[in-house]
Amino acid sequence: MSDTDHCVIVGASHAGAQVALNLSKAGWAGAITLLGEEPHLPYHRPPLSKDFLAGGKTLDQLHLRPQQHYDNAGVTLRLGERVIAVNRDSHTVTLASGASLAYDKLVFATGARVRRLPIDGESLPGVRYLRSAADIAAIQRELDEVKNVVVIGGGYIGLEAAATMRKLGRDVTVVEAADRVLQRVTSPTMSRFFTRVHEEEGVRIIVDTGVTRFTGTDRLAGVELASGEIVAAELAIVGIGVIPNVELAADAGLACSNGIDVDEYGATADPDVYACGDCAHGTNRLFASPLRLESVQNANDQGLCVAKAIAGDRKPYAAVPWFWSDQYDVKLQIAGLSQGYTSTQLRGDPDAGRSFALFYLDGDRLLAVDAINRPREFVAARQLLAADAAFDARKLADESIPLKECRR
Ligand code: FAD
Repeated sequence: MSDTDHCVIVGASHAGAQVALNLSKAGWAGAITLLGEEPHLPYHRPPLSKDFLAGGKTLDQLHLRPQQHYDNAGVTLRLGERVIAVNRDSHTVTLASGASLAYDKLVFATGARVRRLPIDGESLPGVRYLRSAADIAAIQRELDEVKNVVVIGGGYIGLEAAATMRKLGRDVTVVEAADRVLQRVTSPTMSRFFTRVHEEEGVRIIVDTGVTRFTGTDRLAGVELASGEIVAAELAIVGIGVIPNVELAADAGLACSNGIDVDEYGATADPDVYACGDCAHGTNRLFASPLRLESVQNANDQGLCVAKAIAGDRKPYAAVPWFWSDQYDVKLQIAGLSQGYTSTQLRGDPDAGRSFALFYLDGDRLLAVDAINRPREFVAARQLLAADAAFDARKLADESIPLKECRR
């Protein structure tokens, strides 16, 4: 690497900013350009369905870092710039403006975009998605006219939006196609808990039901369900998952499966091209199969791993995944991945109150914990997961035994 080398990062959000701000610290002596399609300084995305949607924060308060930090780290930020092509032979990226930029190292941090619901009426004002600050601005412009909200999709983002809309005093219905909310991401116990909490807060939850049409003439009036019922709504928030932005990489001839395929250093098969964050499908040493995760932790940790690898300080990605969700007075904190669990153990009661921890095990190995208003269990479990310890499952259920003493 020389001081004339240039690292170009495509995508200016959690993952891209993390790479950019850590390159020099890791020893990269060359130039750094962070290209972002959105016109804003990189900002925290999680508040979009929480405080920011509730109107409690301005976009300035959401910035990951002030402009000064990028300047100090030697990062040239080019915002409002969309990359439309990558040519690996000539080592160049082409911008929508027609300009092109040469790179020595390239990072895809292009994230993910919402999965759309292409049914009749989707283009009516009042049908909204939740991914960017611009999406929230569009919702907020219409909110004064809204009494009834239908949230389509009972995943974390849909449920957070439902909680925020209740906080704002709107009547809220959640419609979920699967037979329980959070079906794709968590266990039946957690689905039952969140269903109870939302119903206690006055949300109507409809499961096992698809949506067939948005009704209304010049703006949204209702959401038609597969059952034939039309639920009145001046606002529909669609939260049915995301699609990783892999097209640029795929068009440049890079392998993509459930994301841009990368190794444990975040590198693609091209040694000059890396990927990290929501768009990357890669190896985490703690897991047997490659993964694509959608979380701030993953974007940050994988971004750091990529920055170091580019600067020559290669360390394999091996981070315990963690995630959180805020709904009403409930803070869910998840450590680990529960897929493949063979048994669970509970600390506390998910059917009463709002505080418990659910441990997921495979034999005597702890895979994950879902902690509801239990920060202590979450923090201890994160450490124990990193140590890959064997557990006495029965002790886990005993509130009087600290987690660390539940190891075999
Ligand atoms: P993204 O944040 O998707 O950013 C990618 C960026 O790249 C975007 O700004 C995009 O415009 C830009 N881009 C894409 N293509 C191009 C191109 N061709 N040229 C230039 N720029 C391009 N995670 C949690 O851990 N906890 C939470 O509570 C939580 N809540 C969330 C709530 C909401 C409403 C949303 C939307 C997400 C939430 N997440 C949460 C997920 C988390 O925000 C994402 O995992 C994280 O943003 C991923 O960061 P990223 O940088 O990989 O991708």
